[in-house]
Amino acid sequence: MENNINAIQDHEDTDKYFMMEAIKEAKLSLKEGGLPIGSVLVKDGKIISRGHNRLIQNNSVILHGEMDTLENAGRLNAEDYKKSTLYTTLSPCPMCSGAFILYNLSRVVIGENSTLMGAEDLLKHNDIEVVNLNMKEPREILDKYIEDNPKQWEEELKKVGFKTTLNL
Ligand SMILES: [Zn+2]
Repeated sequence: MENNINAIQDHEDTDKYFMMEAIKEAKLSLKEGGLPIGSVLVKDGKIISRGHNRLIQNNSVILHGEMDTLENAGRLNAEDYKKSTLYTTLSPCPMCSGAFILYNLSRVVIGENSTLMGAEDLLKHNDIEVVNLNMKEPREILDKYIEDNPKQWEEELKKVGFKTTLNL
């Protein structure tokens, strides 16, 4: 029993460690004048790719932190996608969740989902393990951004019809 508890604790510590790396990416985006949402892709205990939201910086319509990270990873083998865990500071939207399902990722770890709820049900529905760490750091960074840039945030949500979940 004690071993089980230790194993769970180790797992959580590992997830928090990689989430801190995703948070570094969120901060990098903020420095560039972008939305503070970051992501890393981990395989066999190593970060193989990292990225952050670049909608504003790149005048992009698709470069959410998760899409940037998948793109930066290059074209992986099918087995590598299956072995990978995607860490994202914010609950993933339907576009990013669709990409995770398409490329058969097995696990998605989320920093928080109280600022905005994504398509987590869709991921679970497609047998992807979803873990929400419910950490305060990613929430504080995004909350502060929204507080400082309410119009920008409103504009981003308006573009997607204020809809970041999916009807199943
Ligand atoms: Zn997204």
